[in-house]
Amino acid sequence: MRVLITGGAGFIGSHLADAYLGRGDEVTIIDDLSTGSIHNIEHIKKHPRFHYTIDSVQNYPIVTELVDGCDVVFHLAAAVGVKLIVESPVRTIETNVRGTEVVLAAANKKKKKVLIASTSEVYGLSDQVPFREDGNLVMGATTKGRWSYACSKAIDEFLALAYWREKKLPTIVVRLFNTVGPRQTGQYGMVIPTLVKQALAGRPLTVYGDGKQTRCFGYVGDIVDALVKLMDREEAVGQVFNIGSNEEVSIATLAERIRELTGSSSEIVFVPYSEAYEEGFEDMPRRVPDISKISALVGFRPKTSLDGILREVIAYHAGVAV
Ligand code: UDP
Repeated sequence: MRVLITGGAGFIGSHLADAYLGRGDEVTIIDDLSTGSIHNIEHIKKHPRFHYTIDSVQNYPIVTELVDGCDVVFHLAAAVGVKLIVESPVRTIETNVRGTEVVLAAANKKKKKVLIASTSEVYGLSDQVPFREDGNLVMGATTKGRWSYACSKAIDEFLALAYWREKKLPTIVVRLFNTVGPRQTGQYGMVIPTLVKQALAGRPLTVYGDGKQTRCFGYVGDIVDALVKLMDREEAVGQVFNIGSNEEVSIATLAERIRELTGSSSEIVFVPYSEAYEEGFEDMPRRVPDISKISALVGFRPKTSLDGILREVIAYHAGVAV
């Protein structure tokens, strides 16, 4: 199979590229290296079945050419990271909406199957935990920059599903919950690499708010496995799937665990949201996926425990081979 991955030099995209190369498939990626990094693909850059184009996913002629040369498309290119979104809302909206428009229009020409990566952010302020794919999405006010990410991704979902209904372009939507592992950078706000780096450097661990907010952290290897399986299933077309772990942990507990596993003596400091992000910032108090839909279709089960993930991320940042 010839696979195109937009955002293929990103954290999840590069692991997906590894998985397809491992299966013997042909992989092409496009990435503008805005939040992705050439380091993520350094180890496969010279692989005979790997091809890369450094360009924007908003470049229609280039994307069309790449889509034409592939059988299936994973659209992962997006502006991600709460910090980046709050600081650069224009870039977030434009990258996420225009990028998806371009990819879907290009794929539609020859009806290439497209999997669109959306996000658990779309559940917004919903309190219907665990979140089900058919549940309501509850957006915050438009004056709060954070929600532009959720809205831009919700538009991507609508568009992908509309292409399927109206034009019979086979599309699949996945809502990725917090995904972590080696190669993820803390530069755009992600909590695990941020806290791990702080602990290793002996700096204070910054827990935002009161630390009681919860998340479920899925291991990138498990998530990529689910993406590959989903792409192979005809029944997935026209559907939305949650993908992630359902092991819930508070951020304060997470910080303590990271401190223990790194053997760090760093203190844990609580930083108000207004200082960490912006005045009036709203966080999601709980975020837990209902994963019964993807489990039923492809037998998905998050295999890697939080401790297992943390050990691997710590080893990665400490520069030790795992
Ligand atoms: N967070 C934190 N300290 C940090 C970075 C993030 O306490 O240095 C918190 C953040 O406010 C959120 C959770 O950790 O409640 C997860 O944040 P992340 O940016 O990783 O992903 P999100 O779930 O917000 O998309």
